[in-house]
Amino acid sequence: MSFKIAIDGPAGAGKSTIAKALAQKISFLYVDTGAMYRAMAYYILTHGIRAEDGAAVQSVCGKIDVSLGYDNGLQNVYVNGENVSGEIRREEVGNAASVVSTYPAVREALLTLQRGIAAKHDVIMDGRDIGTCILPDAQLKIYLTASAHTRALRRYKELEEKGEEADLDQIERDIEERDDRDMHRAIAPLRAAEDAVTVDSSDMTIEEVVNAIYHLYENRR
Ligand code: C5P
Repeated sequence: MSFKIAIDGPAGAGKSTIAKALAQKISFLYVDTGAMYRAMAYYILTHGIRAEDGAAVQSVCGKIDVSLGYDNGLQNVYVNGENVSGEIRREEVGNAASVVSTYPAVREALLTLQRGIAAKHDVIMDGRDIGTCILPDAQLKIYLTASAHTRALRRYKELEEKGEEADLDQIERDIEERDDRDMHRAIAPLRAAEDAVTVDSSDMTIEEVVNAIYHLYENRR
């Protein structure tokens, strides 16, 4: 049976950075499920559909084929064969992803894809509902969190480094809005699984978090 590590937590807690580094260290496949919701949102936005229009979004779900590919261990995301890995990182795509991820048809389509990958590989899968819903039998579950202010500051610095304009207060408001929507939606809301280990990364370096999770993994395998 494959070994599964689930990492859930709010936007900007560092899940993907940590999961990527750990996956490389222990030679697991890294699966970023947020990228799949972003890919769905990207399709919606580029086809003139509003994310808030639930009926329209769910009616085109069957036409959106999301798939993953790997290039030197790095995950690429494809929508109907087009590599959208760069485009999906935009703020508006992330915000739209948070809206479309509340629709049952969207979650159902991605659940099948995510479980299929985990059945075939040792994975570190990150998202919002991996430990609670997608992989309830994961051998290690982490709930990675950090204060909203810390998360906004990290995102702000990231955008600054890329030379993009950013407004720290706006980022913090967006993060709080996204948390609220992710935690209070009807299906698969963001919460720590009962058997998850909570790690608060507010005052930890990336290396410290990776090592902490690595030790938990070593103890469980
Ligand atoms: O993690 P990321 O910011 O890329 O995710 C974008 C959005 O996709 C999240 O705000 C969340 O609403 C949704 N998502 C989800 N379930 C997951 C992963 C992401 O609902 N497993």
